[in-house]
Amino acid sequence: MNIKEYVQLRKEQLKKEIASLDVKPTLIIIQVNADPASDAYVRGKLKDGAEVGANVILDKQAPSISETDLIKLIEKYNHDPHVHGLIVQMPLPKQINESHIKLAVNPVKDVDGFHPLTHFKPCTPKGIIDYLKAEGVIFQGKSAVVIGRSNIVGKPMQQLLLAENATVTQMHSKTTREDMDLFLSHADIIVVAVGRKHFLNHSFKLKPSAVVVDVGINRDEAGLHGDAEPNLAVKLQTPVPGGVGLLTRLSLLVNLMEAYHGIQN
Ligand code: NAP
Repeated sequence: MNIKEYVQLRKEQLKKEIASLDVKPTLIIIQVNADPASDAYVRGKLKDGAEVGANVILDKQAPSISETDLIKLIEKYNHDPHVHGLIVQMPLPKQINESHIKLAVNPVKDVDGFHPLTHFKPCTPKGIIDYLKAEGVIFQGKSAVVIGRSNIVGKPMQQLLLAENATVTQMHSKTTREDMDLFLSHADIIVVAVGRKHFLNHSFKLKPSAVVVDVGINRDEAGLHGDAEPNLAVKLQTPVPGGVGLLTRLSLLVNLMEAYHGIQN
């Protein structure tokens, strides 16, 4: 099943489940930036919520808000029994310390999976693992390579692959081309999250049986491009657009349902 079909199916299941609930799951999105990319992401989250029948509410605050006032607002939602999920849209204005905000969100409502004590998995890596499982990809004993080591994608991706018993190699900007060639030529699963158009290209020799997951979103005048060149000679390659971005959005809804059940029961 391609990603669009998979996401559509999972959303229909969520919609049915939510329709049967008396109290609807509620997600608050606090946005304190004036960033066009964030506006687009927030619009997507509001649209997804409406599609499945969840209450997704945007609380937009001035970018000049102080850290103290933002934490007070988070505390208000932390204690509100009608709120099941709470996220603060990144990036944050300069006067606000990102770590303080991530730690302020109640871990049981932290559907972005950013708090160190939350049991929620960050949406992008979670979406990738769930989709690959649905596609029947085997992780145990397989060789996985993650290119990129950011806190929101690369590092949690490495951890989730490890939890699935893959043998994981993590690469970053200081990895040599020699090592990249070596590890990539042996990899069964490759996740590329670098933020550079067509970084993973035909100059790398990959296994024909490999699975390539393309996390990258690179915009130019021609449109959206992934971190992987299209049509690599592999078994499965996720597209951009219409790939991991959709899985990330789906995971937020799945995490919201989990938070709902955790709080309602
Ligand atoms: P990021 O924070 O900028 O991290 C990029 C990572 O790539 C860093 O770890 C960096 O290494 C590594 N890197 C940079 N140049 C490299 C090179 N030449 N060789 C190997 N590694 C290199 O980015 P991110 O937040 O992880 O996002 C990555 C991409 O995914 C972006 O295009 C972003 O827009 C996209 N994204 C998509 C979704 C989605 O839902 N589809 C979600 C999140 C992000 P160092 O650590 O050494 O600097």
